[in-house]
Amino acid sequence: MQKSDILENLQSIVGDDMVSSSAAELYCYSCDASQIRGVPDFVVRPSSTDEVSKIARLAFDNDIPLTPRGAGTGLAGGAVPVEGGIVLDMSSMKRILEIDLDNLLVFVECGVVQEKLNEALEPYGFFFPPDPGSSAMCTLGGLIANNGSGMRSVKYGTTRNYVMGLEVVLADGTIINTGSKTSKSVVGYSLTDLFVGSEGTLGIITRAILKIKAIPKERSVLLASFEGPELAGRAVVKVLSSGIVPSACEILDRNIIEAIKSYDPNISLPDADAILLFEVDGTENSVKEGIEMIRDACSSLASNIRAASDKKERDEIWAARRLVGAAVSRLDPLRTRVYVGEDVGVPIKELPGMLNKVNEISKEYDLPIMTYGHIGDGNLHTGMCIDVLEDGDWDKLNLVADRIHRTAISVGGTVTAEHGVGSARSEYLGLELGKGLNVMILIKNALDPKGILNPGKMGV
Ligand SMILES: Cc1cc2nc3c(=O)[nH]c(=O)nc-3n(C[C@H](O)[C@H](O)[C@H](O)COP(=O)(O)OP(=O)(O)OC[C@H]3O[C@@H](n4cnc5c(N)ncnc54)[C@H](O)[C@@H]3O)c2cc1C
Repeated sequence: MQKSDILENLQSIVGDDMVSSSAAELYCYSCDASQIRGVPDFVVRPSSTDEVSKIARLAFDNDIPLTPRGAGTGLAGGAVPVEGGIVLDMSSMKRILEIDLDNLLVFVECGVVQEKLNEALEPYGFFFPPDPGSSAMCTLGGLIANNGSGMRSVKYGTTRNYVMGLEVVLADGTIINTGSKTSKSVVGYSLTDLFVGSEGTLGIITRAILKIKAIPKERSVLLASFEGPELAGRAVVKVLSSGIVPSACEILDRNIIEAIKSYDPNISLPDADAILLFEVDGTENSVKEGIEMIRDACSSLASNIRAASDKKERDEIWAARRLVGAAVSRLDPLRTRVYVGEDVGVPIKELPGMLNKVNEISKEYDLPIMTYGHIGDGNLHTGMCIDVLEDGDWDKLNLVADRIHRTAISVGGTVTAEHGVGSARSEYLGLELGKGLNVMILIKNALDPKGILNPGKMGV
């Protein structure tokens, strides 16, 4: 089919205004928040499952690559159409269909922005726990497709733990429903789990049934400083292995602390090689008890420990943590934060060794690494900034990232704990999954025999 015919067909499905092939608009859809680039031939904004199904059928019949996209905040090139074709912008499907408090469930379309769901739930005293740093922008579809998580997954788990069921459009346009509203069901393969984290390579998620939780009554924060990141890693192992369950457990290393302070000198963070932020939530008594238990567990390792005395101090500490992205990006006007090798995860016991190894690699290559992230999940964000116009900087960065990835795998860890594989990390799937990758390829071929769904991603 000619391009002009495809355009006409797409227009007949969604209406003229919801399709674009103008160069300016295509350029806007040629990237996400990573360094990966690829220009689509068409951008389409469906408003219903039926429209998505018709678009998929058109793409299937004509062998056109079809890349689903939420808000494009992904950090691995997942939503970038690296082989051209159609980008399916799902952000118009943004209705919260039902809030079912009796069953602790919500029914949503996939384009709902994460924070909007929590704004809708707050008046009822409930929330949807997965909270990525991008919650003000990212869609629930993107979050589900990436099995995203964030600061509170150490207690509440990842998005996967909240998806009860999905409506999915398959590559040939078939619409299926997976899962159920019941908290237990053992009927058939867990197809819901198959689509969660499939990064748009197996189907297009159009609707979801999600679990929600009651907002905890109290929260408190404890900040512990360490002379050396390894000590911070040991403290995390000690806290978690003694059975304490913080609702957040974050690390900021010296480079990050300095970046935050130079971004906003009014922020008061200790001068330390690393700090850990622990949050505990629950009832008044359980929070007090949890904070004291963490203080005890950290006392022999930390150089200083302070608990936030009130809500204001607690909020200031979290505000500082949330500044990390902006602070790193503006550190040096000649250098750009590049999301490569930035999302490894290791088993908790391996954290002290991994933190040491990251420092060693940084020194060996003379490339500063700023480490922060959800250390309670074993998840370290190793941030690096380079002059993106210098080929030599890219070479060095890729070598450093490769070393970090391989080190994580060698200790039983993963190359991506939450940001996803996309195009950025496809090359490591064989190394990390072994023959499991062959099974993934079999599943991909069964569900998407023509390979039209988000091609060039996830190593399949
Ligand atoms: C500042 C910042 C902070 C971040 N912090 C975190 C964090 O703490 N934790 C975390 O996990 N991530 C984080 N991220 C990464 C990103 O925001 C998440 O992965 C998010 O879930 C992506 O959602 P999105 O709507 O932007 O998806 P997109 O980037 O548009 O797409 C992501 C992937 O999902 C697929 N997809 C999107 N919608 C659908 C759909 N409806 N059906 C099928 N596939 C679909 C796409 O094809 C792509 O593969 C951060 C990103 C930024 C920029």
